[in-house]
Amino acid sequence: MAKTFSFRCADAGVPCRAKITGETEEEVLAKAVAHAKEKHGVDLTQAQTLARYARSAIKET
Ligand SMILES: [Zn+2]
Repeated sequence: MAKTFSFRCADAGVPCRAKITGETEEEVLAKAVAHAKEKHGVDLTQAQTLARYARSAIKET
């Protein structure tokens, strides 16, 4: 069984119901970066602390 990882904006304190899933932490983080930029106007690649926080909020499911 393949592992999956997920990240929810809500876990990072953002009032958003989006749930991002992927097969690797890197994939989830990349999707989270794209989502944050598109939906929230936040560039996580420029906000290192936020990116780190998002990474820590990614859970193995
Ligand atoms: Zn969101």
